[in-house]
Order: sequence, then structure tokens, then C-alpha cells
Amino acid sequence: MHEMALASHMLAIITEQAETQNYDKVLRVCLEIGIFSDVEPEAMRFCFEAVTRDSLAENAVLEIERPLGQGWCMDCAQTVEMSDRLGSCPACGSAKVQITGGDQMRIKELEVA
Ligand SMILES: [Zn+2]
Repeated sequence: MHEMALASHMLAIITEQAETQNYDKVLRVCLEIGIFSDVEPEAMRFCFEAVTRDSLAENAVLEIERPLGQGWCMDCAQTVEMSDRLGSCPACGSAKVQITGGDQMRIKELEVA
């Protein structure tokens, strides 16, 4: 389960920032997981709870957002929102779409005290 490694990494980032930004408690973490990411939100939730036990983020609320992915449509010559990695362009229906985003995972917001 690679979510465990990702959750540990996330906690390391939060802990590091706590030192430079002077907070000692994390109340809420808003995490963005692109829909093409291979991170499983429920597994992430479970791992987050496990790794934050006895840390500054213990009992923090984890919010997970799943933004749509992006693709470059070669026919429209523009970036379009994609809900399916193998889908066609929502604007013109072309299948010539190259996926350019949607597999990211990042901390979007952090509520601290
Ligand atoms: Zn198109």
C-alpha cells in the first residue's frame, strides 16, 4: 500500500513547516488528489489517521478533493477538462486528447493553531 509512504511523507512536510511557520497543532488538512492519480482516497484516509497518531496532526480533519484532470485536445488546440483518462474531448468529441494533468497529489490547505 503506497498510500502509507505518501501519508508519512505528507506528515514530514507538515512537521517541517510547523517549525518554520510556528504552529504546533494541525486542525484540518485539505488534500487534492487528481482523479487520474493512483492514490486511493479511502486508503489515504486510513493511512493518514495511522501516521498522524501521536503527532501534531493527531485528530486533524482530512478533507479530500478530487479535481478533474486536464487534457490537450489536438483538434481544438486547447486545454480541456477530462473526467476519463481515455475519454474524448468534451468540447468537440475528438479522441485526439493527450492527458496533461490530473495525477497530482498535493496539500491544498492547512488549518493550524
Ligand atoms: Zn476538442
